[in-house]
Amino acid sequence: MAPRFSFPSPPPSAAAEALRSEVRGFLSAALKDRTSLERSESWNGFDKAFSRSLGARGWLGMTWPKRYGGHERSAFERYVVVEETLAAGAPVAAHWIGDRQSGPTLLRYGTEAQKTRVLPRIAAGEAVFCIGMSEPDSGSDLAASRTRAVRSHDGWRITGTKVWTTNAHRADYMILFCRTGDGGAAERHAGASQLLIELKTTPGLTIRPIIDLANQHHFNEVHFEDALVPTDALIGTEGEGWRQVMSELAFERSGPDRFLSSIQLIVELIDALQGGGDAAELAVGRLTAHLIVLRRLSRGVAAMLEAGETPSLHAAIVKDLGAIYEQSIPEIARTLIEGEPDRASTSAFHAVLANVVLNASSWSLRGGTREILRGIIARGLGLR
Ligand SMILES: Cc1cc2nc3c(=O)[nH]c(=O)nc-3n(C[C@H](O)[C@H](O)[C@H](O)COP(=O)(O)OP(=O)(O)OC[C@H]3O[C@@H](n4cnc5c(N)ncnc54)[C@H](O)[C@@H]3O)c2cc1C
Repeated sequence: MAPRFSFPSPPPSAAAEALRSEVRGFLSAALKDRTSLERSESWNGFDKAFSRSLGARGWLGMTWPKRYGGHERSAFERYVVVEETLAAGAPVAAHWIGDRQSGPTLLRYGTEAQKTRVLPRIAAGEAVFCIGMSEPDSGSDLAASRTRAVRSHDGWRITGTKVWTTNAHRADYMILFCRTGDGGAAERHAGASQLLIELKTTPGLTIRPIIDLANQHHFNEVHFEDALVPTDALIGTEGEGWRQVMSELAFERSGPDRFLSSIQLIVELIDALQGGGDAAELAVGRLTAHLIVLRRLSRGVAAMLEAGETPSLHAAIVKDLGAIYEQSIPEIARTLIEGEPDRASTSAFHAVLANVVLNASSWSLRGGTREILRGIIARGLGLR
């Protein structure tokens, strides 16, 4: 029989709600010139000055210890900042990987020197991170990664290729998942480690662009050709990379970023539907009800993270349901408003619709595909 499980239902936090109006006030001024189309870029929008301004307000690295540049605030206060910035269509790409998963990974497993050197820079909006997990022949099957780091007298020598690396061309650091054991089938999980790579100074490293369906450059291939990084680039324990990367994915999969990617389209849809009658009201009511449920589940995961748990099953559920929701919105919108999607349209609705249509297919791939998440969920529920 499947085990019982539940999502905690944390009550609203007074401190977090007090912060909400401050964040909204800041965002409405900071983003006043941002067009609807730009807002629909969601977490692809890259603006380092904006990230710095969040850092200056203490809204990055919020839950981290003060000695590492953090602010020792609760997971729910951080949640408010994340959901408000995404709902407003803020350009978050320069900080969100560092704030959401690389920083927490370093905080949990990094050496004291790594934490002291890097975390304050993330919290200030200065250090940009990328994720070095996927490879040409191992995306879903991360344990099949072939990029290898070999310990030598002068550091780690790395050979291999990472792919789909979002913002590697703009990033300062990558957390690299690689093999450090001597290989062999028995080592699938045991022989992996994580290394902190300085992208701008490491010799033997080449970054090549991949242009996506929307004709934009976010992805890259990153080639390591006997690239040399110092011995102290190791994060955590050699050979423990698999366990570490699984906890990193729990940070990656549960947040409001997993159901707010097409929020700007909902905003434009509501505007375009004004006076649209029962069908319009029903559609908006349904979308809102689903959004509220997703938010409730996602806050439950935030509560579990706050309690120091690693809620991989719960995070996979939020991510899978969130992707279904995000991807359904363009289809629902198209049935309600006439006209073709067109990024160059003067109608904000049709421009945003075009952007969302071009990007939505990737939302059930990034951060783990639908099929893989369902495998995790089935295993977590004792069904396989
Ligand atoms: C927008 C976006 C941003 C990304 N950013 C990054 C990044 O910054 N860093 C990074 O490392 N990666 C990144 N990725 C890569 C992403 O994590 C991978 O695309 C994803 O894990 C799938 O891997 P793959 O593309 O190799 O597909 P594959 O693993 O080849 O899968 C192809 C299809 O087969 C299915 N499949 C595979 N194995 C199984 C199985 N065992 N059972 C059932 N079905 C299966 C999959 O579900 C999928 O539908 C990004 C991807 C996208 C779309």
